[in-house]
Amino acid sequence: MINRNPAFANLTAGYLFPEIGKRRREYATAHPDKKVISLGIGNTTEPLTPHIAGAMSDYIKALQTPDGYSGYGDEQGLTALREKIASVLYPNLIESDEVFISDGAKCDIGRIQTLFGSGVSVAVQDPAYPVYVDGSVMVGAAGGAKKNGSGYEGVVYMPCTAENDFFPDLSVVPDNSLIYFCSPNNPTGASSTKEQLTKLVAFAQKHDCIIIYDAAYFAFIQDKNLPRSIFEIEGAKECAIEINSFSKPIGFTGVRLGWSIVPKTLKFADGTLVNKDWNRVMTTVFNGASNIAQRGGLAALDEQGLAEMKSLIDYYLENERLIKKALESDNFKKLHIEIYGDGNSPYLWVKFPGKKSWEVFDEILNQCQVVTTPGAGFGPAGESFIRFSSFGHREDIQEACERLKNFNL
Ligand code: PLP
Repeated sequence: MINRNPAFANLTAGYLFPEIGKRRREYATAHPDKKVISLGIGNTTEPLTPHIAGAMSDYIKALQTPDGYSGYGDEQGLTALREKIASVLYPNLIESDEVFISDGAKCDIGRIQTLFGSGVSVAVQDPAYPVYVDGSVMVGAAGGAKKNGSGYEGVVYMPCTAENDFFPDLSVVPDNSLIYFCSPNNPTGASSTKEQLTKLVAFAQKHDCIIIYDAAYFAFIQDKNLPRSIFEIEGAKECAIEINSFSKPIGFTGVRLGWSIVPKTLKFADGTLVNKDWNRVMTTVFNGASNIAQRGGLAALDEQGLAEMKSLIDYYLENERLIKKALESDNFKKLHIEIYGDGNSPYLWVKFPGKKSWEVFDEILNQCQVVTTPGAGFGPAGESFIRFSSFGHREDIQEACERLKNFNL
């Protein structure tokens, strides 16, 4: 038989969300009469909006006619969509041939790792969205990272805590590293300021690092002073790639559409353009995003689509406000919890001092029948934290909030 790829043997057994799902199912089986509400995962819940869905359904009708049918398109995406993303979301910052349309940010993060091979050193925020590390382990990056306690040997973890304003100490990052950076952050909800991102870019430039900037939650940023893209920072085009998505802004988690920006000014050590190799990856192992989804993406970026996007984001941010209010009630005050989340992301990051994340997770599930996400699942610095997600129907959020008001530890 063929040998197993040794990189896979290094992966940790349980992925966070399957474990949450397992505990939820066990609880539901033991208590079939209780309704469990999820404030746990980052999955969108509200329906597609009319203008965006209408554009896709018109296109499906056209596909049923000889004139309107189309098969494979350009692997890099529709030119019109690449242009629209560049002009609407990155005005005067990037060019359309630096935009690559994809089937979503997670898939791009996976594919992008093939660009750098197994030799590359990897630094991640701690806590972080699990795909950066798990995907790196799969391709054997970070010296074939081996499991070590709650992390991996070879991966550089950059703790992001309340004490450092959720912006890491970059001095721990070796030269020539890939730095995964997410803002607004999943799970901490923190959005980096212009000053912080300027520091990040300056560091990457000085130390020959490349930043993989995950901006999947850009649309939640309300504060006009906060950057929505790394390319708002001078110098970023020489050291950063941005990964982005339509999943959260317009509820395309199931439809699947995202994009990456690889500037033509970003180079490998030998002078080769990263854009050129990324084009090679995308045209080789990817065959273009769904043409239906791309019509939805185009509609999302016109005036009506942008208004619909705003209304969806406002809906989830109102959920966040309600959850925050529930967590500010007296029972939580007695527990001295610390709530982080400033209305620029769908997540609240909540510290339960002296408690373990999974212990709090189980207590909230048992007492309130509410599923949350244990912070420890996002990395060692997430211990003692719980992530509350604002994705949910309003009536479920309201009910969850009522139940949380009776929680005690
Ligand atoms: N990046 C972050 C930080 C996320 O939290 C998620 C999904 O929850 C993704 C990327 C995945 O996005 P997509 O649905 O575009 O694959």
